[in-house]
Amino acid sequence: VPLIVAIDGPAGSGKSSIARAVARAKSFAFLDTGAAYRALTWFALESGLDLTDPDLTDASILDLLPNWEYVISTDPDVELVTVGGVDVTLAIREPGISAHVSRIARIPAVRTHVNDLFRAIMFAVEQPGVVAEGRDITTVVAPDAPVRILLTASEEVRIARRAGQLAPAAAASAADLVARDRADAQVVDFLTAADGVTTVDSTELDFDETVAAVVAV
Ligand code: C5P
Repeated sequence: VPLIVAIDGPAGSGKSSIARAVARAKSFAFLDTGAAYRALTWFALESGLDLTDPDLTDASILDLLPNWEYVISTDPDVELVTVGGVDVTLAIREPGISAHVSRIARIPAVRTHVNDLFRAIMFAVEQPGVVAEGRDITTVVAPDAPVRILLTASEEVRIARRAGQLAPAAAASAADLVARDRADAQVVDFLTAADGVTTVDSTELDFDETVAAVVAV
């Protein structure tokens, strides 16, 4: 059984790049769980569903699951996500995906399905450990993980960091990020540390300092 390092936090907290760097530093595997919700959103749009339609049923989204062939690399040096063999690594980062992902992520049966997938992926890694990041890893996916961290940063800093990541769409992205966190926080509380979870606040830390703080935990 690999040692599980669970990291949660809001959008723009730097979770993904920090978790990846921690995995590299420890020669562990890396699992970005948000990528699954994004890849399922991509597949729903690709399948012709209108995710803005208020009459769209959860059932029509759940119907997609049996045909959703999702594969993700757990090598921290290889960023690769495919759906049905199509490379969607870049496509799932588009604002058009971020804008709709909360609609998918709020469906309980979707969460159960992907959580089972995450546990299967984590237990199958060959490395001695796996760093998994998301919103509910410390509380739902791997509540018994020996290392559980909530990565936070002030909203101001998160918006600034995210703007640096998404060059031209930066102005729109600040509002998008706040709106997405609000929608996501209705589903899982990733803003307060659960019992036994260590908070690492990166507001005043640079990238390397944050990685070091997580490795120290
Ligand atoms: O981490 P990232 O921003 O890529 O996550 C994309 C979306 O996936 C989040 O906005 C949230 O709706 C959903 N998500 C989730 N639970 C997780 C990871 C992501 O609900 N563990």
